[in-house]
Amino acid sequence: MQAKAPLNISFEFFPPKTAEGILHLCEAAEQLAECQPHFFSVTFGAGGSTREGTIDTVMMLNQKLSVQVAPHLSCIGSDPEDILLTLHQYKEMGVRRIVALRGDLPSGMGQAGELRYASDLVALIRKAAGDYFYIEVAAYPEIHPQATCAADDVLNLKRKVDAGANSAITQYFFNPDAYFYYLDECARAGIHIPVTPGIMPITQFSRLARFSDNCGAEIPRWIRKRLESYGDDVKSIKAFGLEVVYQLCQKLIDGGAPGLHFYTLNKSAPSLSILNQLFNSYPEMLKSFEPKKIQAVE
Ligand code: FAD
Repeated sequence: MQAKAPLNISFEFFPPKTAEGILHLCEAAEQLAECQPHFFSVTFGAGGSTREGTIDTVMMLNQKLSVQVAPHLSCIGSDPEDILLTLHQYKEMGVRRIVALRGDLPSGMGQAGELRYASDLVALIRKAAGDYFYIEVAAYPEIHPQATCAADDVLNLKRKVDAGANSAITQYFFNPDAYFYYLDECARAGIHIPVTPGIMPITQFSRLARFSDNCGAEIPRWIRKRLESYGDDVKSIKAFGLEVVYQLCQKLIDGGAPGLHFYTLNKSAPSLSILNQLFNSYPEMLKSFEPKKIQAVE
């Protein structure tokens, strides 16, 4: 039997705003680092609103841990000169991977600016730095909320690939069919880069519902209704969420997903619970996620 290739597992963090938040992130990142993930990524507020926070967090993780760190960089509302400066700083820090995004301008905050789409940012990075950076971009199996139509959203990924993107990470979703259909559409459009599913662990309902409404991710009715019915019973929400997301990941792995990118919200426990459980089914593909090694942070 042919050995299965290891899955590329990555974890996304946001830049913390308080000393307590920094401590909490460090603890979570240290534990996740023990599993030797493919990379960590750190989000970026559109218009540069978390610029310093993102850079500081990337630097901190880079110095403390031996995991590749990929800053997110968004272009909407940002001056190209500032973006080039940021890229230069990342180069100095040894960063080799960037998640290039358009971002969403907070309402009332400025103008879109010169770089209107992520494809413009990818082109700028390639022009300024050649092949130095490995570039990830965003993809939307359930279609980006502002896309003119589903087909154009796939073409938008093509525009980003043509501009120089190496691979993509999806918005989270709970319906694996949306992902597999999207991959077929991408292949038909001539897109052949890896598209890694973004995974959102379920630990809470109201925040997840709010997030999902904003970003266009669908919570299927059967999941929504069950989560609603648990009310404040956090234990039941977590147990149900773990089962649902574990089964989703199983389907994605069985269907050939190249990896899993976890939206951690700066917590290690939800992602690790899923990965520890997956290890039992895919020990070869998830060697470094053997449960006994890890004590997760709640
Ligand atoms: P784009 O690829 O530019 O697409 C945006 C919209 O414009 C789409 O509807 C697309 O179809 C349309 N479009 C693109 N080009 C054209 C064109 N030439 N003509 C007409 N329509 C076009 N946001 C943050 O602010 N910070 C983050 O750190 C962050 N990280 C993320 C990480 C991942 C993995 C994902 C999936 C999303 C992330 N986001 C982040 C959210 C993202 O910024 C938003 O979803 C944003 O609305 C779109 O960004 P994009 O890079 O996909 O934009």
